[in-house]
Formats: sequence, structure tokens, C-alpha cells
Amino acid sequence: MPKPIFQRILLKLSGEALVGDQEYGISPAVVQKLALELQEVMELGVEVAIVIGGGNIYRGVAASAQGMDRASADQMGMLATIINSLALQDALEKLGVFTRVMSAIEINQVAEPYIRRRAIRHLEKKRVVIFAGGTGNPFFTTDTAAALRAMEVKAQVILKATKVDGVYDTDPLLHKKAMRFEKLSYIEVLQQGLKIMDAAAISLCMENNLPIIVFNLIEKGNIKRVVLGQKIGTVIRG
Ligand code: UDP
Repeated sequence: MPKPIFQRILLKLSGEALVGDQEYGISPAVVQKLALELQEVMELGVEVAIVIGGGNIYRGVAASAQGMDRASADQMGMLATIINSLALQDALEKLGVFTRVMSAIEINQVAEPYIRRRAIRHLEKKRVVIFAGGTGNPFFTTDTAAALRAMEVKAQVILKATKVDGVYDTDPLLHKKAMRFEKLSYIEVLQQGLKIMDAAAISLCMENNLPIIVFNLIEKGNIKRVVLGQKIGTVIRG
């Protein structure tokens, strides 16, 4: 059996990863597909932590641009990430994969509270841990939550799933001649203003030397490929 190069990963999914062909919300078929891919990764013996965004349901910044109080709008965004986490948990458990949703905001009837040591224990017991509620603070994003949680549970890498196969110099969906980077340093990402993750998340990874691999989630089997060390996507490191 092929050997994974990572023992513990943190996968960052944006809310959009669950939306499929719809304009909004959660596509059950897409979530099922994702769960199957994660099951394959679990079968390799890899410990998997996940942070999901909420952009498919609600984005605080967008609402605040229309006049809503930013902190309240962000709290709605955080609730959206909990909704997504529960959808993924359900799909995984239908496949017999054990999971825990741990929330950064108290919502005890729905999800466990986030307790770092307990999260690590779940991972050691081969449960997929889904971190919901972002960082629990408004004015942050789930990218920052991903960097923070990855550091806290000592994940070896952040796998940042996107719609394209890595980081490009311009938007490859708009520009045919866009060039893909094979690797980048954190500083290059920050200096060139490449929109992969927000600057707070990149800085946090830089300070703690945590590598990020940006890869295409749409292509089937890609999470497994990255975990097995195949060279796809863009690697960001020091
Ligand atoms: N959010 C927040 N604090 C956090 C993480 C998220 O307030 O620590 C809110 C914020 O409003 C954000 C929304 O949750 O717009 C959804 O998260 P994000 O935009 O990161 O989701 P993604 O773009 O990954 O789908």
C-alpha cells in the first residue's frame, strides 16, 4: 500500500466547495463525493482535521457592505460554518467514518466545544475532527481559523482546496495566459498580494513555518494524491 507523507493534515475547505452547481447552499451529492474522498484518505491511516468556511451560505463582509453591523454579520457567518460542518459530518458518518464537530462558539446541543487537547485525542483515535465556527471571533476568516487550528493540533501541513490547480499569477478562470507557480515563499505570497488565503493566515503560517499546499479539489482523488506526496498544486513554505 502506498505510504502517506503526512500523518496529520488540516484540510481547509471553503464553503463554495459544498455548493456544486447551485448558486447557494449545500449540494448533497457534492458533500457525499467529498466524504468518499476523505474516507479513502482515512484508510491510509492519516489523521484528518478539517476547517470549513461558510461563504456558500453567508459572508459577514458582504452583509456589512450592505449596512449590517459587521460583528453581527460575522456571527451569522460563523453559524453558517457550523451548518456546513454538520452536513459533512453526516455524510462521513453515513460511510462509517467516525467524526467530531468541535465548535469555537458554544452550541453544546449541536457540537462539542473546541478543547485543544480533546481535539488531539480525537485525531489520535482516528476520528475526523471538523472545526466549526471559525476562530469564534468576528473580523476573522476561516483561513485564519485553519492556520490557528493547524498549529494548535500540530498538523504537518494545511491543504487548501480550491477550484483551480494551484496558485497563478493572475486569475486563470479569466486569463488564458495565467501562469501557475509550483512553489512560493510566504513572503512572495504577501508581497505579490496573491489571493490564496488572507494575509493574517499566511503570516501565521510563516511565523510557525507551516507549509500550505494549494490544490484543485474538483479533480477526483486529489486529496489522496497530495497526501501521498504527488506533486500537484502549489507548495507555499519558507
Ligand atoms: N467568520 C468570522 N470569524 C472567523 C471565521 C469566519 O467571523 O473566525 C465569518 C465571516 O463573516 C466569514 C464567514 O464566517 O465571512 C464565512 O467564513 P469564510 O468567509 O472564511 O468562508 P469561506 O470563504 O472559506 O467559504
